[in-house]
Amino acid sequence: MKKLLFLLLFSTLIFAQTNIVVSILPQKIFVDKIGGDKVHTSVMVQAGDSPHTYEPKPSQMLEITKADLYFSIGVEFEKVWLEKFQNQNKHLIISDISRDINKSAMQGHHDDDEEHHAEENIESKDPHVWVNPMNVKQIAQNIYETLIGIDSNNTDYYKAHLTTYLKELDALDDEIKTILKDTPENTTFMVFHPAWGYFAQRYHLQQLSIEVEGKSPKMKALIQIMKKAKEQNVRAIFTQPEFSDKSANLIAQNLHIQVIKTSPLSPNWAENLKNLATAIAQKK
Ligand SMILES: [Zn+2]
Repeated sequence: MKKLLFLLLFSTLIFAQTNIVVSILPQKIFVDKIGGDKVHTSVMVQAGDSPHTYEPKPSQMLEITKADLYFSIGVEFEKVWLEKFQNQNKHLIISDISRDINKSAMQGHHDDDEEHHAEENIESKDPHVWVNPMNVKQIAQNIYETLIGIDSNNTDYYKAHLTTYLKELDALDDEIKTILKDTPENTTFMVFHPAWGYFAQRYHLQQLSIEVEGKSPKMKALIQIMKKAKEQNVRAIFTQPEFSDKSANLIAQNLHIQVIKTSPLSPNWAENLKNLATAIAQKK
């Protein structure tokens, strides 16, 4: 009997997973790549919801009480909610998955609303770091370091996963470069919500956003944007299911280009980046 009890205890110790909660879907992909079957990862912001304004459900708050680790990534709703998560679970380790990534200023905050600008704090950095595979290499490294800090017994396991994943990310980066090899530098693509800034940076493209200060543009601004889009010979417009695409459709009709629905929160993270590149590479 004692022996059985010991075995039981031993096996739960061996097979115990680290319970992790993350803010957005792509993080789950990255965490699972490194953590494999040693982790159980659940996601706060569900498909179709915006990470800028998200409010966790009661069932998710319950999940927080059972979690060992929360990976934040710097999206807006965390500003209010991380503190509440910590209050809900004093043992919860909160770790910033985006640490050591160079963040640039958020694009698309370019309009005539001076007052609003003054109000906006200086740290209005672009949080959408995960749309550049090179940033994700840093994210993978960060996940690895956090996991071995919590579960050092499995260091070799995590290390092997990290090595494999870093190679995968380099391969993805090469693939995207190949897709874009005949695309002129600074080719402009249009987006409703400026979530693709780091993608544009990495592959020498320009992102032109329709949204102004997080809202659909008024007619005056819309006309300006349309003029700019014409000048810059925009190839495609990407909109997200999380946002209204009325103004995007209007611009697309006017310029005779395509509107493509795609989300930076897509569960097919790598495929999604390649699809974006392919759409941009297409000649009109
Ligand atoms: Zn966003």
